[in-house]
Amino acid sequence: METGVDPRWKQLMEQGAYCSCGQRHVGLIDLAFLQPADWKDAPAKEPNENLRTDGDFFSEEFAVRQGKYFAIRCVMPLPIAGCSPPASPLVVWASVEKESFEKLVAEPRPQLKNPPVQFPARLVNRIGGYPDTLGLMGAAFPMPDSPPLLVLAKNADPEAPMHQLVQEHRDGASFDRLLEVYAAQGHDMRGAFAGTKQ
Ligand SMILES: [Zn+2]
Repeated sequence: METGVDPRWKQLMEQGAYCSCGQRHVGLIDLAFLQPADWKDAPAKEPNENLRTDGDFFSEEFAVRQGKYFAIRCVMPLPIAGCSPPASPLVVWASVEKESFEKLVAEPRPQLKNPPVQFPARLVNRIGGYPDTLGLMGAAFPMPDSPPLLVLAKNADPEAPMHQLVQEHRDGASFDRLLEVYAAQGHDMRGAFAGTKQ
């Protein structure tokens, strides 16, 4: 598929599409996960600047549990094959070691370097439309003006089957897969495109 060839993509970008959530979306949706998946009794959110690394702390961007488990909100791009803009951002949480966390939250944010600074990180959300994604490994790259970028790792064993999320995150998802992933997150727009064929 060449860029701009799929009329459904053009329709989503220009006119938008009615969605099962009751809204009309124009362009890509920022799919945002509000907290790590496995923290049901998270305390009320505090301002980021109140961050404490002992006990429990929760804010828009940071999560600390029992002073032992550290998670940070990251952006993970889901590239869409053959379409532009080229990626749908997923806002997710990643757990990191304490030392990494302290560097990621330091102000000023680490500057981009070549090669870029990166920290081992583990996805701690369950993204609908995929086999369970909780615990997939990757790396968090600090960004100067935005949350860290989460890039999932390829399998250590190249013979092992790649997780579907890792594969689509690295190689791109089709437009139909994007609609499936949106639908699994409560944003079903597939009906809006039923009459529009590529
Ligand atoms: Zn929606």
